[in-house]
Amino acid sequence: MKIAVLPGDGIGKEIVAEALKVLRALGLRLEMEEAPVGGTAYEACGEPLPRATLDLAKAADAVLFGAVGDPRYDAIPRDKRPEQAILGLRKELGLFANLRPAVVYAELAGASSLRPEVVAGLDILILRELTGDIYFGQPRGIRKLESGKFAGEREGFDTMRYSESEVRRIAHVAFAAAGKRGRKLCSVDKANVLDTSQLWREVVTQVAREYPDIELSHMYVDNAAMQLVRNPKQFDVIVTGNMFGDILSDEASMLTGSIGMLPSASMDERGKGLYEPIHGSAPDIAGKGVANPLATILSAAMMLRYSLEQPAAADRIEAAVKKVLAQGLRTPDIFQAGTKKVGTREMGDAVLAAL
Ligand code: NAD
Repeated sequence: MKIAVLPGDGIGKEIVAEALKVLRALGLRLEMEEAPVGGTAYEACGEPLPRATLDLAKAADAVLFGAVGDPRYDAIPRDKRPEQAILGLRKELGLFANLRPAVVYAELAGASSLRPEVVAGLDILILRELTGDIYFGQPRGIRKLESGKFAGEREGFDTMRYSESEVRRIAHVAFAAAGKRGRKLCSVDKANVLDTSQLWREVVTQVAREYPDIELSHMYVDNAAMQLVRNPKQFDVIVTGNMFGDILSDEASMLTGSIGMLPSASMDERGKGLYEPIHGSAPDIAGKGVANPLATILSAAMMLRYSLEQPAAADRIEAAVKKVLAQGLRTPDIFQAGTKKVGTREMGDAVLAAL
């Protein structure tokens, strides 16, 4: 199994180093090759996503990504900025399904802005379609109105659209993911108002026939936004379109209250994925050895589960992370009184020991 390792900028290098330590300790045959991306790559060869890096990512079975972004490059042209690398990788690799788990470990329930009893033990997965919907639909633009009540004014317009095959492929990913978890899938739409959503609901319902052991429900997006803060534990997997998923996945990540703990995956049609923490390069703490490596270590676990068919190894990593938290070890971002503050490397070492 070949893994392209792209640490990137800022804390990217520090946290990916810890994830690699953990991966190497599993005793699996993993071939890992590293390449520059983001500001680091721009510095080395003038491009945030060099050809060689893209080729490596294409040839690999999975990509482990740290983070990109560096304030030193804020003033350079947009197409050379570090953040373009992640957009380019998503596009070039055809990554259309974004998987974002929101897990609240019992020990960290106090970090959430919700009451601990509402979130303790939370374990949900939000699946967002990533390449369609109103963010990409044509036509779009700003035009001058020639007639009607608002004649002479400008209006902005975008087009929400999904084809049947786009809905079908994300639905398959969602049912398959639910099959690896709690076997419950909630499809979120706005079918009471939007034709796009009516088609979405129809297609998801058709696909459900191929997965008789998964319990499917539907929910309107406004209700889903409310239920996520009222009783988030009612969900297992949520599947939704690009815009609704954009909003709901950020809402769900805040249920956990700790950005340094959350992994994510973006997958293509054949199950290949790019795995990364949801946070950025954190320039404010880069190089200080205090970044939380757990989101990246948990991203490696997701990689083993969803792209490399190694669920037992993924379970081992997740259990090790739980154990370390139960031992009371905390990086500064999740520190609470009565626990022991550790740095990036010590946290990685503790996970390794717990393995
Ligand atoms: P950020 O996620 O990097 O940081 C936000 C805050 O969270 C900071 O205070 C940071 O110190 C803290 N934080 C983040 N990860 C942490 C960790 N693992 N452990 C401890 N604390 C952590 O977001 P930002 O500051 O808005 O952006 C910084 C740079 O990252 C920007 O250049 C931005 O474009 C980029 N970015 C990249 C990605 C990506 O690579 N996918 C995602 C988001 C932001």
